[in-house]
Amino acid sequence: MQLIFEKSQPGRRAIRWDTLDVPEKKLPADLCRAEAAALPEMAEIDVVRHFTHLSQRNVGIDDTFYPLGSCTMKYNPKVAETVAALPGMARLHPHLSTSTAYNGNVQGAYELIYELERELAEIAGMQAASIQPIAGAHGELTGTLLMAAYHRDRGNTHKDTIIVPDSAHGTNPASANIAGFKVVEIASNAQGLTDLDGFKAALNENTAGIMMTCPNTHGLFEKDIAEIAKLCHEVDALLYYDGANLNAIMGECRPGDLGFDVMHYNLHKTFATPHGMGGPGCGPVGVGKRLLPYLPGPRVVKKDGGFALETPEKSIGRMAAFFGNYLIAVRAYAYLRHYGGEGLHDVSRKAVLNANYIFARLKDAFEPAFDGRFMHECVFTASKQAEGGVRAMDFAKALLDEGYHAPTVYFPLTVPECLMIEPTETESKETLDAFCDTMLKLAERAKTDPESFKEAPKTTSVSRLDEVKAAKDLNCACL
Ligand SMILES: *Cc1c(COP(=O)(O)O)cnc(C)c1O
Repeated sequence: MQLIFEKSQPGRRAIRWDTLDVPEKKLPADLCRAEAAALPEMAEIDVVRHFTHLSQRNVGIDDTFYPLGSCTMKYNPKVAETVAALPGMARLHPHLSTSTAYNGNVQGAYELIYELERELAEIAGMQAASIQPIAGAHGELTGTLLMAAYHRDRGNTHKDTIIVPDSAHGTNPASANIAGFKVVEIASNAQGLTDLDGFKAALNENTAGIMMTCPNTHGLFEKDIAEIAKLCHEVDALLYYDGANLNAIMGECRPGDLGFDVMHYNLHKTFATPHGMGGPGCGPVGVGKRLLPYLPGPRVVKKDGGFALETPEKSIGRMAAFFGNYLIAVRAYAYLRHYGGEGLHDVSRKAVLNANYIFARLKDAFEPAFDGRFMHECVFTASKQAEGGVRAMDFAKALLDEGYHAPTVYFPLTVPECLMIEPTETESKETLDAFCDTMLKLAERAKTDPESFKEAPKTTSVSRLDEVKAAKDLNCACL
C-alpha cells in the first residue's frame, strides 16, 4: 500500500477556501517557514479512502475476539465514548478559571474528578486516589515515589530495596528502579505463587517494600498476601498492589483490606477505555493511610459548598500536566455510573467465569502451566506440541488465518512455550465456544499435519516477519 505522501499530486486540494472579502494581511516574516511544509496534496475522496483502507487493515476489538492475556482487550460500552465526547467534557479548557463557564462549569469537572477518585478508593479499600498518572507504569512510578517519600520522611534512609516476585508485571521492576530503588527478584514456587520462604529470605531492614501483581501474571490469586503484609509492616516496609487486573476481583475483595498501602488502577483496561497499545492511558494511584500525606498535587477538595484545588503539604508534586488524561477519567466515571456496585461485581464474576470456561474446554488439549484455580486469564504451555515441531508462536500465527488475534505468547517468561489467554467479561458463550473449537482444531492439526503451521499466516497482508526488525524499523509501505 502506498503512503499518503506517495499518492500526493502537486496542486490537489481537499478543501477550497472562500475568496478573501477582507484586505489580505501577511504574518510577520519571523513567524513564517522558510520553505512550505511537506504535506500530502490530495482530493477529499482519496484522503477518505486512504484512511478507510488503513483502518480496515487494523485488528481491533470492534471486529474480532481478542484473547490477548495480560492486556485486557475488552469491548467497552460506547455510552462512555458518547459521554466523553460531549462538548462540555471534550472542549473544557484546563485554563478556565473555576468560576468561568463554557457549556457548563469547570466546577462540574472538579466534581467528577472528586467523585471518581472517591469511588476508585472505595472499590479498592484505599483512603484516597489521584487520577494524575497517565499510564499503568506511570502509576507504578508514582506509587514507588510515594513509597520513597514515606521512607524519607521517617528517616528510613537505609531502606533502598524493593522486592519484586518474578510473577509480577514486567513494568514493576523498571518502575521501582526509576524511582531510585534496587530491585530484588524472587522466584515463584511450583504453584506459580510468590514463594513465602524466598520472600522471607529476601526481606530485611533495608526492604522499602514489595510490589505484587494480583492476580499475578500466571493468572493466579496470591494466597499468602496476609502473611506477607504482616511481615512487611513489621519492618516498616510497604506493599504495592499492581491493580491493572482489577477486573478479576471487583466486589470480591479489596487490596486495602488485604494490607496493601499503595496501588494503581488501569482505567484503560478495567474501566471503559480500550487499552490502545501505547495510546492514551490513565493509571490512577490509590493510597492507604500511611501514604495519604504524600499524594500528587494539586488535589480537588470540597470547599465553600463547591470544589477547589489544594496541594498536600508533603506532596510529591505533580505527576502530569493538569489532571492527566482527563477524558479517560470521564469514561471511567460514566462506566461506574453505568454499572453501579452490583454491576461491577458481576463484571468480575464473568471475567473469571469466562477464563475458567476456556480453561475447562482447552485443558485436555493444552497442558495447564499451573495446577491452581485461574482468575481472569488462563495460562498453558505448548511444550508438548513444540516437541512435535509446533511451537506457541505457530499456534499464534495459525490463529490469524482463523480470524482471531493471537493470545499473548512467550509471556510470562516463567512459562516455556507460553500461551496466555484472557477472554474478558464482555464475550458471549458463542464467541468463547467458537474460539475454543478453533484451538481444539489446531491442536488436532498439530498432531496430524505439523508442517502446515509453517506456512501460517497465509491470509494476512504479510506473512512471518522478523519481529524485532518490524518493531524497530517500521515500514508500512510493504503492506
Ligand atoms: C498493563 C499492565 C501494566 C502496565 O500498564 P500500562 O498502562 O501499559 O503502562 C502493569 N501491570 C499489569 C499487571 C498490567 O497488566
